[in-house]
Amino acid sequence: MSFLQVKDKTFEPYLTASDINGQVQRLAAEINRDYKGKRPLFIAILNGSFMFSSDLFKAVNIEAEICFIKLASYKGTKSTGQVITAIGLDMDIHDRHVIILEDIVDTGKTLNEFLPQLHHQQPASLELAVLLHKPEATRYPVSIKYLGFSIPDKFVLGYGLDYDGLGRNIPEIYKLKEGAE
Ligand code: 5GP
Repeated sequence: MSFLQVKDKTFEPYLTASDINGQVQRLAAEINRDYKGKRPLFIAILNGSFMFSSDLFKAVNIEAEICFIKLASYKGTKSTGQVITAIGLDMDIHDRHVIILEDIVDTGKTLNEFLPQLHHQQPASLELAVLLHKPEATRYPVSIKYLGFSIPDKFVLGYGLDYDGLGRNIPEIYKLKEGAE
């Protein structure tokens, strides 16, 4: 792995495909153990989580379902502020064991606003499986049950994560080169 140029930014190698696979397999093993007989419903949040979701789901060997949603955020009224809505959530999650699949938690704002909407539908349980978490950047509390990596507050790309639309197809994870911000 060497430096990677994407548009105006230079990225340096950070996590190898083998590092990522190790954590994905560990998370899947924990989920297989915790959810046996519960037929969990995975909800993958697109676009960024598509690669993580695919690899994780392949390693899930218990009965399970998956659906894919997109979160759209738009300006609500002055009192509601930013409103987040789920596009494509056509499954009934009432009484289901739900596991949200997300690529990265940064400030935590997105999930902090979205999760209460799911709780409202009274799932039997609701947990998060997240590949990357930037604890130093997190401003809104989010409780992550299944976490791949805690990472520093640096912009990352690859393995589904993009910079301005590019880089999602890279099988490794790169981070912005030191001093290149
Ligand atoms: P949050 O609401 O937690 O601040 O932001 C979560 C979303 O911001 C992620 O789902 C992702 O789309 C984007 N994001 C946050 N940090 C990064 C990063 O380092 N790289 C990329 N590519 N996207 C990020």
